[in-house]
Amino acid sequence: MIYLDNAATTPLDERVLEKMMPFLTGLCGNAGTAYGPGRDARNALERARGQVAALCGVRPEEILFTSGGTESDNQALRMGLKASGRRGIIVSAIEHPAVLRTAESLQKEGARLTVLPVNSEGFVEPETLKNALSGDTGIVSIMTANNEIGTIQPIRELADLTHAAGALFHTDAVQAFGQIPVNVDDLGADLLSASAHKLYGPKGVGMLYVRRGIPLMPLITGGGQERGRRSGTENIPGIVGFGEACRLAAEEMEARNAAKSALQELFFDRLLSENPHAILNGGRSNRLPGNVNISLPGASGETMLILLDQKGICASSGSACATGSVEPSHVLLALGRSAFEAKGSLRLTFSEHNTAEEVHLVCDVIREEAARLRAMSLPYEEYCRAGK
Ligand code: PLP
Repeated sequence: MIYLDNAATTPLDERVLEKMMPFLTGLCGNAGTAYGPGRDARNALERARGQVAALCGVRPEEILFTSGGTESDNQALRMGLKASGRRGIIVSAIEHPAVLRTAESLQKEGARLTVLPVNSEGFVEPETLKNALSGDTGIVSIMTANNEIGTIQPIRELADLTHAAGALFHTDAVQAFGQIPVNVDDLGADLLSASAHKLYGPKGVGMLYVRRGIPLMPLITGGGQERGRRSGTENIPGIVGFGEACRLAAEEMEARNAAKSALQELFFDRLLSENPHAILNGGRSNRLPGNVNISLPGASGETMLILLDQKGICASSGSACATGSVEPSHVLLALGRSAFEAKGSLRLTFSEHNTAEEVHLVCDVIREEAARLRAMSLPYEEYCRAGK
């Protein structure tokens, strides 16, 4: 099997599992209890909080553990808007559904929603945000890096503009955290979401960074865990795994990215040079090292995924959450791609464990299968005739 879908999820690192095992197999106490196993759980919880905080340069008490990126995004938007005391919410058109659907749901409840367009390379222009901000804007949410096209946004500039308008700035860093340096102070974010399963940690655990002094209400109420901001017995094995995954990411990030960048360049060079009418989706620079997203109009992404799967290659077309739906990706449409171009997209997100041999093999398969599909596609013939 060749796994090229690391933006959907990453495999659990064995070193992470090793740290989790004592809390999965032995007696893992409830961190809210005062006896030995409870104290052990609390100590492990706080140690992990320190590891997560260290990866983004914040104080441990500013980290709030959640069930993952989706929950973090929901709490940030819902409670951030409430804390701001204002009505306006601004998001970009290429946000993950965890942000987009939440913002739309807030709009139905009375919020004033503005969705910012991106330029043809997939970046939010600071000027566009500046023009959209008003005295009524309560919160702005723009992702650090996009899950489909890997574009890394100019977060610092966007956060500064937001603060100048007196609003809170949230960034969904789920795809960036553990992949590229994410320092909250450098970014200027007030709220930041991350998820463990994107950096070789376990699924079902994430975090929300909340800048000290922001009166953020809980989304989930109950026993008052996480200092009243997120109730529910803490997922100690998951949190311990998240902490270790962060520690390893900090240590290995540079080496991982050097390997990924080399493979990325190889992918781009081959895919763009040997497939006619291949379109690179998203800018080539300011992009996550493991992300390749191309459109091969006339070669349906959904069909390509099945053909690749038959050869043991795991990839994606659009985001994982959109797979199975026939709708073209909202991200690619936002870049200005036609529905035909967007439906011919493939996303390959690889890791440092992939090899150049695998890249060559996958490029061979894509070239052959895309040519076969295109030879049978009337719309592709018309597309070529139209001189695209
Ligand atoms: N935000 C982004 C940018 C993502 O890529 C994802 C997952 O794919 C999420 C949020 C949701 O995170 P989780 O799977 O932890 O709920």
